Amino acid sequence: MTNNADELWLRQEIIDTAVAMSGKGLSPGTSGNVSARQGGGMLITPTGMTYNDLIPEDIVFIDKNGALNESSRKPSSEWRFHFSAYASQGGANAIVHTHSRFATALACARKPIPAFHYMVAVAGGNDIPLADYATFGTSELADAVAMALADRKACLMANHGQIACGETLEAALDLAREVESLAAQYVAALQVGDPYILDDEEMSRVIKRFENYGQQEKS
Ligand code: 13P
Ligand code: ZN
Repeated sequence: MTNNADELWLRQEIIDTAVAMSGKGLSPGTSGNVSARQGGGMLITPTGMTYNDLIPEDIVFIDKNGALNESSRKPSSEWRFHFSAYASQGGANAIVHTHSRFATALACARKPIPAFHYMVAVAGGNDIPLADYATFGTSELADAVAMALADRKACLMANHGQIACGETLEAALDLAREVESLAAQYVAALQVGDPYILDDEEMSRVIKRFENYGQQEKS
């Protein structure tokens, strides 16, 4: 473990994020995992532990070469795709992976989310892509995730779930929530009929407007 107060704080923040993810019904049981960049490597939730029971010592540090301290907990089985997602997503400092209901339903039908709603742009483009299927915990899955996140902040994962990246843990969790809400709306729209898909030109306008949406800092 660490005596560094900032790292201790970050470990607790990872736990709080995992508890919130689970508490809000975004991932059942011990499914899902949470990480944050730290010291050239990352801190990540341990594998197969109930989030409510975690203490800061349970969070695992993995260095930039994928090595960990012998005395630490066993890390999330998905540490490889967290690593590859950070490599793809230069601006991301935090990652949340969930098996949320509607995102997973679409991922099992192998349907990415197209621009059926303008809010799809929150993931950074005109769709929320689907990473190819590979067995959980493998480097093949890490490669598939890196490809899907090459120019997006979130993706679905075939027959598995979703991943959301953010500058902060709060932003990554918010994006995971937004992806789940869009997935639920898309499933509903598919049931109503044939959703109208916004074209690339309109989505470019939306992405532009997002740049100054909300309260701007006054200079
Ligand atoms: P871990 O408990 O190993 O993090 O696994 C959960 C999961 O979602 C695997 O994809
Ligand atoms: Zn998973």
